[in-house]
Amino acid sequence: MATELLTSRDMARLYCDACSGCGDCCCRMGDTIHLDPYDCNALTKNLHRDFASLLQDTIGLHEEQGLVLPHLKMTDAGQCPFLDSARRCSIHEFRPGLCRLFPLGRNYDPTTLSFSYFVVPDGCDMPGKAKIRISKWLGVPDLPRYEKFVADWHFYVRDVQAVLARTQDPASRSALTKFVLQVFFVTPYDPSRDFYELFSMRLNEARTVL
Ligand code: SF4
Ligand code: SF4
Repeated sequence: MATELLTSRDMARLYCDACSGCGDCCCRMGDTIHLDPYDCNALTKNLHRDFASLLQDTIGLHEEQGLVLPHLKMTDAGQCPFLDSARRCSIHEFRPGLCRLFPLGRNYDPTTLSFSYFVVPDGCDMPGKAKIRISKWLGVPDLPRYEKFVADWHFYVRDVQAVLARTQDPASRSALTKFVLQVFFVTPYDPSRDFYELFSMRLNEARTVL
């Protein structure tokens, strides 16, 4: 059966009363909880720590098709550093986008430069899930602007990866990956200004060097 593609206005069977104290989806995730600039800005702003400081314990870096990007770093015991002793998320209000999404995935459409949602078939097998509207499940303020940001970031990353794939010179490749990390993650976003506007300005400038 084909995967059903959904919008944030659709209902999906996601809501789970049994979540309390499970925390399985916050353990043994390796480097798969990828962080985008919105996530990292939320972490730095709410934890009052800069990106370099978070790299010491809670954020790791991995390579995706040549591009170095951040992810949540699991502890030595293999769990998220933000999972508390009651096995609840200690940063629920500003948890990363992939945590909000689970067990949904995103299906990106390069022709419209947008994306749809789908329920990941083997995402969470806890039975008895109730239907909930996807916008409510995500719980992100100003969802249309957030969704535009998510799509813009995704397609920018794909474009950078395409440039890296055809760049032979290691020094040029390294310079481009460092540039992306510096512009979108290391350089703080002014908390008194609108994140999406700042991101958009950075994106427009960054695209000029591709
Ligand atoms: S979503 Fe599933 S795996 Fe994650 S905490 Fe809830 S029941 Fe556990
Ligand atoms: S940030 Fe919260 S929801 Fe996400 S993996 Fe960590 S504990 Fe789980």
